[in-house]
Parts: sequence; structure tokens; C-alpha cells
Amino acid sequence: MNSNTHLPLPHHHNNSGAPRPMPLPLPLLTPDTGQSPSQKDRKVLIAGAGLGGLLLGALLERAGMDYEIYEQADRYVRIGSAMALTANIFPVFEQLGILSEVIERSKPLESVEGYNEKLKLFLPMSYHYVEKLSGYLSRVIPHPDLYNILSSQVPEEKVIWGKKIINVQESDNDISIECTDGSSYRGQVIVGADGAHSGVRECIYKALDEKGGLVKNDKETPRYNGVCLWGETKALDPEKFPKLRDPTSNVCAVYGERLPYYWMTATTHRDTICWLIIQFFDKSTHQPTETIRRWKSQPAGDMCEALKDLPIACGENLTFRDLMEETSRQLLSKIMHEEKFYQTWHSGRAVLIGDACHKMSPSGGLGAVNALQDATVLANYLFALPDTPSWESEEITDAFKAFKDERYPHAKLCYEHSHQLSQIMGNHWATDITRAIYGKTPDWLWKLMLRRIISHRPQVCFLPQVEAKGASKPAPQPSLHLNLSRSNTGSSDTIASDKRAASV
Ligand SMILES: Cc1cc2nc3c(=O)[nH]c(=O)nc-3n(C[C@H](O)[C@H](O)[C@H](O)COP(=O)(O)OP(=O)(O)OC[C@H]3O[C@@H](n4cnc5c(N)ncnc54)[C@H](O)[C@@H]3O)c2cc1C
Repeated sequence: MNSNTHLPLPHHHNNSGAPRPMPLPLPLLTPDTGQSPSQKDRKVLIAGAGLGGLLLGALLERAGMDYEIYEQADRYVRIGSAMALTANIFPVFEQLGILSEVIERSKPLESVEGYNEKLKLFLPMSYHYVEKLSGYLSRVIPHPDLYNILSSQVPEEKVIWGKKIINVQESDNDISIECTDGSSYRGQVIVGADGAHSGVRECIYKALDEKGGLVKNDKETPRYNGVCLWGETKALDPEKFPKLRDPTSNVCAVYGERLPYYWMTATTHRDTICWLIIQFFDKSTHQPTETIRRWKSQPAGDMCEALKDLPIACGENLTFRDLMEETSRQLLSKIMHEEKFYQTWHSGRAVLIGDACHKMSPSGGLGAVNALQDATVLANYLFALPDTPSWESEEITDAFKAFKDERYPHAKLCYEHSHQLSQIMGNHWATDITRAIYGKTPDWLWKLMLRRIISHRPQVCFLPQVEAKGASKPAPQPSLHLNLSRSNTGSSDTIASDKRAASV
């Protein structure tokens, strides 16, 4: 299937009030008109309607599987940030038929210009090579655009809003979740796609710890590195911001040396600029400075006021003041910025994906892509579970273990790369070394890093596969061949059709 199969769709409304397309009737699958009792028993519960949770829902929808997404928020709240999407998530977008829309609502990412605080270019990072390797250019897309595209693939009734999960209870045959409003839901497995402060993770870790089964790394609190402030301007005047005219996204990152900040601007397809500023903790103590302590409890606007004179690199003689004046307070956000790579990704009938199991530094722009790749690979293992009325605990454990084995090395590589990039800022001795290394990285080494990141290009096994593009072959993906081990008759289309037909 190629992206041309994504036809104009009838619209309904999402919680943000914006019209969104209804999911396509599946081109190759039997229409889903109901579910057999056995399929109803095999429900996948998904915690969190963030990027990872939504993609997983969209994929399970296509696989004809039963699932429901529980989201703590009452509705989608627009976030003023841009997502850099590395090209290795595009094959699965192409399988889903959403790639053309993603391209329409984003700009290509050809390079990131790294400046020192005097706005001298010292680290030009070229991403041209990514296209040569994978056949796609990476892209920059505003978060709401990506969110809307993904949520258009999930029927509205599958997302239950206002459900904050606070308890997970497992029995021999199933698992149930309990929410703050007293409601509870039962299924065969729970997927914690509920972000950095995952409620599902907290519940399963607590249970494991009580049995003495939680590793030391996972008991330790995440490393908090600083405060991150970000926002998105209104559409701006290209006379004042000429970089908006570039057909590609102009991404400028400034790495403070004396100043304990990293700041970044990115132009978008809607002529807005998404920006972010991170103030880092003292690198020798890993403790928040006095200012950070104060900002943590103050509104985002106060932090803006204090940082408005930082110079920005996306135009002549501009400072953050020029962007902040054009940014509505509703599109300002502030969070404590943390990093943590967890060792335990699953326990019993519960499994974690995305930030819930690997919270990366935003410096690498790889967190969302990894959450989406987790969703892709996990969808394969869920799809490959047997067609029995319910799933045995051992079958689930094997599937989750295989999921982790497939995803762990790549997520770790991206986590470490993001961490290294976050080390370029600040005036600690370690920073000086990292800066010198990155500033002098030979082209071949940079390309090698890109090749390693891009080699992981997961697809789902139950939709027609997209032919590998580019000069570098995708790394082997065990879960892509699961459909063959489930049945040695027919193609992936047939198997997905069979599964769906079974539900009619
Ligand atoms: C400023 C900034 C810029 C970034 N830029 C990039 C970038 O350029 N490229 C990139 O790849 N990544 C980027 N990231 C990282 C990226 O946003 C995250 O890695 C990604 O959103 C993680 O997706 P997720 O689905 O795991 O979690 P989230 O997107 O955080 O979604 C989790 C969802 O779960 C819900 N939830 C939480 N707890 C519960 C509960 N107990 N019960 C029910 N629901 C719950 C939350 O409300 C939320 O909707 C950036 C992050 C930040 C902060």
C-alpha cells in the first residue's frame, strides 16, 4: 500500500474541537462489524493517549484487534512544540497511509545549526545523508499536527478521556486497571504508554519491589537535569523572519558556555517558530540552582521574562523577546527536564513503551520517534499472540520479552546519543571535552552515527510491507516475520484479513 490510498475522508470532531478525518475503511481488510466473544476477551488496555498510545491504537485498529485507550486529561490540550521526526519512522506511516499528510503538514529537516552563545556556528549537523540512507528526509512537524494525524486513525469512542490510572491488578487470566474516578476496566494486557511519570510503571514497580524483584537502577529516581520552557509563536511576518521563507525547517540550537542554557528555534510549515529553552542544573552537583528552584514553582511567564534577552540565531539582531511577544500564554509550557533509561520494561501482563521506559533528553529530538517505534514493534507481538479465547501468562511474557529484545538496543543508542548532545552545554570540564569532540567530529563518524540511528526502520507485519528505500538496508527486524511463523499460508494481508474476518 502506498500513501495514495489515503483518500479524502468524512470528518468528525475531536476533543479540541478541530475537525478530523474518520479512519479509513481498511482497503485490504474485511470491514469490522463487531467482535466475537473470544476477541472481546482479548482486549488490550492502553494507558495514555500521547503519541505512542495513539499510534499503537491506530495499528491495533488496522490489525482488527480489540483495545481501548484511557487518558488522564479531559481533552487534548494543544502543545506549542515542534517534533523532529527522524526518517526511520516513515515506513510505518507509509503502511498506515498517513505519510503524505505528515509531509504536507511539516517541513524537511536538512540540518541543525549548532551555535555557541556568541552565535558563532561551531557545530553544523547535516541530515542530508539520512535521505540517501533511508529514502526519506527527516521532518519537523508541530505537535498538534502530528497528534491530529494519529488521532484521525483511532475511532473517537476508543479513547476514554478523564481516566487517570492509579492501580493495576493482575489475576491468573486477566488484568484490571482502576482510575481516580472509581471506574475500572478489565483486559488481557495493559500497555503503559503514559509518559515519563507513568502510573502503570509505578504500580508494577511497586509490586515487583515488594517481592524483591526490582533492579537497583529502577528504584533510583530519574536524573533531573534542568527546567525546560517551550512555546510556539503565531504566524510571523517573513519580512522580519526571512528564514520562514526557506522550504526546509530552519533549526538553530545555541549551546551556552558561561550561560547554563540551551536554546533552540525551528520554523514550521505554518510560518510559526517553535522554540525551547532549557536551563541546566549545576553539572558538578546535579542540584537545581536557586533560580531553578524559584522557577519550578512559578508560572512559565516569569521564566520568559527573565530570559527574554537571550540572542537567537534565526535572524539578524533578534532576541527571545521577539518570539515571546508573539507567543500566546496558552502555548507556553514548562517542565522539569529529566532523563532515565529503565531496565524493567514489562512484568506479568503489563508492558511499558515510550517515555514510560526510556525518557530521553530533548536535545536529541528522538523521544517521540522511539515511542512510535516501540508502538510499531509491540503491535507486531500483540498481533502474533495466539487466536485462543484468552492469552496464557507465559505467551504474554514471551511476547513482551521478545519486544524488549528487539527495541532495547536501539532505544539505548538513541538515549545515549541524546545524553551526549545534552552534555555540550555548560561550563563544566566534561562539557569542554564533549564540545571539543563533537565540534571536531569527522564527517565519517557523524555519518556512521546517522547510519546506526536510521538502520532501525520498523514496520508492522500485518499490513502490506513498504519496500526498503535508500542506500542502507534496514536492520533485521524479527517481529516483521511473525506473521510467517503464525501461519505458513498466505501473505500478511491474508492474515490480517483472517484475523479481522474472525471478528465479524
Ligand atoms: C519541549 C520538548 C520537545 C521535544 N521535541 C522532540 C522532538 O523534536 N522529537 C522527538 O522525537 N521527541 C521530542 N520530544 C520528546 C517527546 O515529546 C516524547 O518523547 C514523546 O511525547 C513521548 O511519547 P509517549 O507517548 O511515550 O508519552 P507522552 O506523549 O508524554 O504521552 C503520555 C500520555 O499519558 C497520559 N497519562 C500520564 N499518566 C497517566 C495515567 N496515570 N493514566 C492515564 N493517562 C496518563 C498523559 O496525559 C499523556 O497524554 C520533546 C519533548 C519536549 C518536552
